[in-house]
Order: sequence, then C-alpha cells, then structure tokens
Amino acid sequence: MQVTKEKDRLVVPNRPVIPFIEGDGIGKEITPHVRRIVDAAVDRSYSGKRKITWQEVLAGEKAFNEVGTWLPVETLEAFRTHLIGIKGPLTTPVGEGIRSLNVALRQELDLYVCLRPVRWFKGVATPLLHPDKVRVAIFRENTEDIYAGIEWAAGTPELKKVLTFLREEMSVTKIRFPETSSLGVKPVSVEGTERLVRAAIQYALQHRLPSVTLVHKGNIMKFTEGGFKKWGYALAEREFPDHTFTEHTFNRVKEERGLEAAVEAYNRAVTSGKVFIKDVIADAFLQNTLLKPEEYSVIATLNLNGDYISDQLAAMVGGIGIAPGANINYQTGHAIFEATHGTAPDIVGAGKANPCSMLLSGVMMLEYMGWEEAGGRITASLESLFSQGYATADLARFMEEGKELSTSEFSSKVIENL
Ligand code: ATP
Repeated sequence: MQVTKEKDRLVVPNRPVIPFIEGDGIGKEITPHVRRIVDAAVDRSYSGKRKITWQEVLAGEKAFNEVGTWLPVETLEAFRTHLIGIKGPLTTPVGEGIRSLNVALRQELDLYVCLRPVRWFKGVATPLLHPDKVRVAIFRENTEDIYAGIEWAAGTPELKKVLTFLREEMSVTKIRFPETSSLGVKPVSVEGTERLVRAAIQYALQHRLPSVTLVHKGNIMKFTEGGFKKWGYALAEREFPDHTFTEHTFNRVKEERGLEAAVEAYNRAVTSGKVFIKDVIADAFLQNTLLKPEEYSVIATLNLNGDYISDQLAAMVGGIGIAPGANINYQTGHAIFEATHGTAPDIVGAGKANPCSMLLSGVMMLEYMGWEEAGGRITASLESLFSQGYATADLARFMEEGKELSTSEFSSKVIENL
C-alpha cells in the first residue's frame, strides 16, 4: 500500500511500503538496526494492526557495484511513488557528474525544507550549563540561496562575460579586485521564501509552539536576505492573521499607542495561543542561542545560514553525532528522512557506529506519518538509556558514567526499553 497525499492531508495506510537506502560505510551497520527498532516500536504501539513493509532501493556504492550507476532511476521512482523514505549516509562519487547524491535527491523531488529538530538528551555531554533550554526546530530553505550552484571561476571567459555585463550594463564599480574575482549568484525568491515560512508556521501551530523566528542577514543583503524577512512577515500577516502576532504589529502598536499597549497586545495574543513571528540578524541569533536559547522555538532561515545554525545548535547539546534530519516538500508530501553524519569510513566494521542519527530521523518519519506513539516510544527509550549512561563509544566516552555498548548491543537495549 502506498502513502498518498489528499489535499492538505497525508493518507497513511496501516501497511505502507517505505523505501529505504541502506547507505555506504557504516550505513550497512546502522540501517538494519534502525529498521528492527522501528518495527518493534510500531508493533508494540499498535499490536500488529500497523506494520511497515520495507522496500530496499539502491543508491551510492552499493548501487554502483550492483547496477553500475550511483543513483538508479528506479530509486527516484520509488521515492516519487511512495512519498516517504529513509536513507543512510552516502558516499559522494568523485567525478561522476553528480555533485552529491543527497543534493540530487533533494532537487529531483524539490524537497524545499530541510528540517532539523535539536534537543538535548539528559546524560549526553554538552558544553552548556543549561542544555535543557535548547529545544528548537530549524526550517532551512533547501533549494535556493548560493547553494543554487551558479558561479564562475576567476579568469575564465564566462567570468569575463559576466563582468563585462555588470560593468557596462549595470554600472557596477564596487568589485574590489575584478581581474581576480570569482563570482556567484544568490537567488532568493518570494515563492521559495513563502513555502518555507508557511511550513515553519504550520509546524509551530501543529505542535503548539510559541514562536517562529526569521533568521537573516537583511541588514547587509537587502534584497535577498532582506526580502526573506519582508516576504516572511507579509506571508504570516496575509495567510495566518488569526493565528499569528508579528513583531511588526508589536512595533506598530508601540508607535501608535506606546509600549504598554504593545505589551498588552502581545500578552493577549500569546495567551490566546497565537504564534509570535519575529526576526533576528543571523550573527545576533548565534550569540543569543548561547545566552538565551529559551527564546527560540521554530527557526525559519535561508540555506547557508541554516547550514551553520544546524551544526552550531546540534553541537551545543552534544548532539552533532546523533542529530536527525528530514528533507520535505509539504505540498506534494514527499519526504526523505536521513542520518546527518557521513559514512564514517574510519570505524566501518568496528561495531562502533551510533545508530541514533538515523534512528531519530526514523522517529521524525513516524511522527510525519502520524504514528506518534511509536516515535514517542523510541524517544523515551533513548532518554532512559542515555540518562543511565548507556551509549555507543562516540557518546559514552564523554559521559560521566558512560557505559560503552556496541551498535547491536545498544540497539537491542533500545528495543528492550521500548
Ligand atoms: P564522509 O566522507 O562520508 O562525509 P567523514 O568521515 O568525512 O565521512 P563523518 O562520517 O561525518 O565524515 O565522520 C566524522 C567523524 O565522526 C568520524 O571520525 C567518524 O568516525 C565519526 N562518526 C560519524 N558518524 C558516526 C556515527 N554514526 N557513529 C559513530 N561515529 C561517527
């Protein structure tokens, strides 16, 4: 049975087919355990009424060795058909005309949101005094910005052409060293911004979260990052007037009727369950995440900012090795859940691979499917194990009373604790 999308709703049958990519390197070691744990959690939650039918699809080295291509069309077709899938880490082929398999998958399915939830697990070593205050969901725009890959290398004929255009037709005189500069293009659109910000606001409403923060560098890049901020606010005010209260409105009330009236309007809005939409410049945001992380809940940001922010926040809770991620198109319903780390060639075969990044992305998948109970069981099991010091080597060695387990020992303990 297929997962399908009907209007605004995902329709998930009780026995959905879910394609999975095993992944390269430690992918082979973690993926079977992730499936085993997810199956056990589903079984325990729904007493056999629901069950995932896993369908392996090929990508990466395994695909290359078996069928001679890194990303077979059948794999893309399976994700297209079944809407939802999960993948282990993939090696990037060198010189095969594909920049990265991950990027290719995202582009093919137009997965415009990169969602990275960040939270702390009690017991996991962290550089913060109060890591429990960090609980955010980062919505990173996944298709635009300088990641579009439109750039020209210094000294090439293409660059000269662009430079001539800029100088002669656009009167650009500000390039400091034109003869030796490379140039890149940063596209940021109304549609791209709106679909990302819309997804972030809907997520906040669904999860009853207090705020969405637009993180940008609009003070410097007025039309691209500044556009993101402007279009983000406009979308909130146009599409969610009854469910949001924006910093814009706060400032307008303050100007017209004074601070007290603005604070009163804000309090009224938040107590009635409205989501507060605010913005912050990216550098101030990074400082604030360390100084007052409790002020942030859902983050909506552009592609490059999102890259830095995701890793910084994950590192703050000691979770860089276990951070899950998903690439989602909320309009079509397509979503690929994935481990955020690489193939870790240095520990392949040593039984040391930590399955938690992929496992927690499996939890995100279960939540996306509406199978929250199964996802919740896995999260609770991990909370309990980490707080007792049980973990794979990468985490156990930094825990105060860490008890190191192999990949399969740890996975079995997760199942025992479900
Ligand atoms: P790739 O080239 O595929 O990106 P990499 O080794 O350069 O691989 P990562 O795979 O992210 O990058 O690994 C960085 C470090 O983190 C390595 O030392 C690796 O052993 C460790 N590591 C990454 N993922 C895990 C994991 N799931 N469990 C344990 N250690 C991990």
